[in-house]
Amino acid sequence: MELLRPASAHEALQAYAERPEALPLAGGTDFMVAWNMGLLNGRAVLDLSAVEEWARVRVSTSAARLGALVTHARIQEHPILRKQFPLLVEACATVGAAQIQNRGTIGGNIANASPAGDSFPPLAVYDAVVIVSSAAARRRVPLLDIFAGVKKTTLAKGELIEAVELPYAPAPSRQFFRKIGTRAAQAISKTVGAGLLWIHAGKVADCRIAFGSVAPTVRRLRTVEDFVRGKRLTPRLAGEAAALVERDISPIDDLRSTRRYRLAVTANLVRQFLS
Ligand SMILES: Cc1cc2nc3c(=O)[nH]c(=O)nc-3n(C[C@H](O)[C@H](O)[C@H](O)COP(=O)(O)OP(=O)(O)OC[C@H]3O[C@@H](n4cnc5c(N)ncnc54)[C@H](O)[C@@H]3O)c2cc1C
Repeated sequence: MELLRPASAHEALQAYAERPEALPLAGGTDFMVAWNMGLLNGRAVLDLSAVEEWARVRVSTSAARLGALVTHARIQEHPILRKQFPLLVEACATVGAAQIQNRGTIGGNIANASPAGDSFPPLAVYDAVVIVSSAAARRRVPLLDIFAGVKKTTLAKGELIEAVELPYAPAPSRQFFRKIGTRAAQAISKTVGAGLLWIHAGKVADCRIAFGSVAPTVRRLRTVEDFVRGKRLTPRLAGEAAALVERDISPIDDLRSTRRYRLAVTANLVRQFLS
């Protein structure tokens, strides 16, 4: 195989502009699966592992910026990420097992665009912005707009994910992350969700809920969010909100689960969060 090994972000973007057919390689945890199946034979590979600028977490007073090459393990260890973005930390702790978390990166998770990407519901409720760069330009893309479908992104030719930025949110009154798989570890999600909720003067001031594995791309449950905003949380309201979940998601039957199960469990998780 032909291996391109840029030593800096500038070199990586330059190399990708010249060879847009090359396949970016970060931690390799998704990449090697395709490689082992012989799907990548003959492809040039753009190995990003020496791009140190993209392996850093940078924090400012308003946001945290996770370089694309930051691993799931590093996210779990970082004291400020643990404090400000506990749902993302929890999600990263459920990705595969320790070996996958040590190699797998946040940029690779996003670029792979699996419907079951476990970091996506937390990133969606934290209003994450993906920083996308090419040799010619840099742009900021809201997380939900980076996904175009199952395993498809809106990245253009020559563009790489450089980082993901998470603005700090006010401390929530409630929060949750839940991943439902076949077993507790090394499982791909049947449904995976995250939520943040703020209560002011006894009423829901704001609410953000997102789920993965229940549509081609991660979904914010906007109908549910709009329904509960401005209301008092009661068991009845939680039940009514849960009944609206099916308006926001479109789960399918596949080898991991069924549409019926995914709908029922997602609705139950929403009811539990709001109860
Ligand atoms: C056994 C196993 C268990 C797993 N369990 C889970 C799980 O529970 N939850 C989960 O969400 N995922 C899981 N995964 C998937 C995978 O580990 C994650 O998606 C991981 O974050 C991918 O990161 P990576 O750095 O290894 O990406 P790579 O494999 O290096 O790359 C993945 C894809 O992204 C592209 N890419 C990588 N970096 C960039 C970049 N900066 N810009 C543009 N394109 C880029 C590559 O070309 C490739 O197409 C599992 C994988 C395995 C093998």
